[in-house]
Amino acid sequence: MSRPTVAFLSKKNLLHNVAALRQRVASAQFIAVVKANAYGHGIRTVSRTLEGAVDGFAVASIDEALILRRAGIQSPIILLQGIYGPEELQIAYEERLEVVLHQPEQFYWLRKQHSLTSLSCWIKVNTGLGRLGLPLHGVAPFYDLLHELPYVEHPIKFLSHFSCSQEKNHPLNRIQVDCFRDLMHTYPGKYSLCNSGGILHFPEYAFDAVRSGICLYGISPVPGMTGQDWGLKPVMTLRSHLIAIQNAKRGDPIGYGGRFCCPEDMPVGILAFGYGDGYPSTARDGTPVLVRNHLCSLIGTVSMDMMAIDLRPCPDVNIGEPVTLWGPGLPVETVMAHGEHHVWQGVTGIQNRVKFIWEEAPPAPMLSLVSAVTDAALQ
Ligand SMILES: *Cc1c(COP(=O)(O)O)cnc(C)c1O
Repeated sequence: MSRPTVAFLSKKNLLHNVAALRQRVASAQFIAVVKANAYGHGIRTVSRTLEGAVDGFAVASIDEALILRRAGIQSPIILLQGIYGPEELQIAYEERLEVVLHQPEQFYWLRKQHSLTSLSCWIKVNTGLGRLGLPLHGVAPFYDLLHELPYVEHPIKFLSHFSCSQEKNHPLNRIQVDCFRDLMHTYPGKYSLCNSGGILHFPEYAFDAVRSGICLYGISPVPGMTGQDWGLKPVMTLRSHLIAIQNAKRGDPIGYGGRFCCPEDMPVGILAFGYGDGYPSTARDGTPVLVRNHLCSLIGTVSMDMMAIDLRPCPDVNIGEPVTLWGPGLPVETVMAHGEHHVWQGVTGIQNRVKFIWEEAPPAPMLSLVSAVTDAALQ
């Protein structure tokens, strides 16, 4: 038998999330961010499911864009980091990819091209994240340069990226918005500022296009809240099953380093799922999992292929028992709040040895109990 680790993925919930997020931003174009294998959800099926429901896709690099084109995606595709070298321009042109330009060198590569007939370009401006983009005061010569190139499509588009949008009252948000507005007042064009946190907290700044990543997958980027709080539904349900049960004695250590020590005689379940499958390695004792109708908890350090579960809440289960690691009823946000990683890493970290099944997962049990725990865990 093969390894019992499965990710159920829901097309219904994915489309629900697009509709729910679109409602917040009215007429703005909606770009689905599907970089990093669609945040671990499977870039091909996610994109095929969303084609027609969104106005375009955004990926990190040409390799990812080519996966989309080969999967039959016709919609616009934005290369968020642009091109890494001049030779990529021809591919971008042939595959009708929209390039983000954030470094002077990229503009110079463009100037040397003579074989292109059309190219859609975004100028990226650094408004405060301090990662990619021209400074506001440095935009003018490059804007002019794009105007001189006959193959550059008009209007020219502009984007910037928030650094703290998941924190509504962070002072940097205001600074970034003001800077972006200065840009809008200076240059005619199309404008995109909001990522998921922006869509949730600042829909009034949706402008011409929004770029949604994490929320698309039903996950809240806002600490202390789950996707459900925003009307979103999780796309991924992660399951495995128990492959061993130990009748541990009081004082027995569990797992590497003996991090957990049994406080009494107790049943300990061994689950086939570990950090080698993508479970967060920093998850602490007490991280919730769902076994049958019971909320149980992780005990001991997560191993590469296994983890141990305190089975005292449901002592009569047997090996083969399915266990839900996250999904409806047990938000990934709750699980991640029990470790050191942020929510993006939870789903993005799922490895390809987990089987992906695009089917609606069986409903999760005990919603009320789990959401009570969610609240406690996220305080
Ligand atoms: C990854 C990314 C996004 C999506 O961010 P989320 O917070 O996941 O919605 C949007 N814009 C840019 C430029 C990105 O790199």
